[in-house]
Amino acid sequence: MPGALVAATLLSAVAWRVGALSADGAVAGAAVGFAVILTGGWSWAGLLLAFVVAGSLASRLPPAAGPPRRTTRQVLANGTVAALAALAHPAAWAAPGFAGAVAAAWADTWSSEFGTRYGGPPRRVVGLQPVDPGTSGGVTALGSAAGVAAAALCGLLAAAFGIAPVPSTAAAGVLGALADSLLGATVQAAFRCTRCGRRGETPRCACGARGELERGLRWLDNDAVNLLATAVGALAAVALHR
Ligand SMILES: [Zn+2]
Repeated sequence: MPGALVAATLLSAVAWRVGALSADGAVAGAAVGFAVILTGGWSWAGLLLAFVVAGSLASRLPPAAGPPRRTTRQVLANGTVAALAALAHPAAWAAPGFAGAVAAAWADTWSSEFGTRYGGPPRRVVGLQPVDPGTSGGVTALGSAAGVAAAALCGLLAAAFGIAPVPSTAAAGVLGALADSLLGATVQAAFRCTRCGRRGETPRCACGARGELERGLRWLDNDAVNLLATAVGALAAVALHR
């Protein structure tokens, strides 16, 4: 237990030092890491660490796209379901659920990091109309391919670490990322500025004015959608696991 606490704290401190996590995000990251090391052990922590490193590296690809530091809300949006599954260890569903939640978070992270940089103009996942870059629920072919690659890579690592088999983990990652896009295009809150007309995910516009709700549920933001998508990934992996 002291070893788990020291390792989780050290790894989060490194993640904060290199700019992958904000200070408060590092505290949340240490809590998630501690829960995973303590219950699942070092192999589970290895899979989680692989996702954090791969996501952080992808967010540093050129061209720079804003601050890559993950805050508490973002860490918990991506890590809560994985941590809950780890806490259920050694229940039979815990291992595939954990791997599925990580695969969904990883697939979504890579599809947005690669898609927004190199994917060209996005289209809405429902109906395929062109949408502004960065719009929730917008997808690109390249971003989707990156998501599939991430899910496959996570599946291979989960199998190599002896956590869960490749097919259920990889499929769960793809389904989780798809759920993220579908929820982003339908129920996630989207705002339109009353002054300049700019669209955004939060009511506060860059011009200083406030936007009005254009679509979706006011309280369902991007972090809530990420949380739901990792839950879909976990449930899919458990359902597909045999
Ligand atoms: Zn505005």
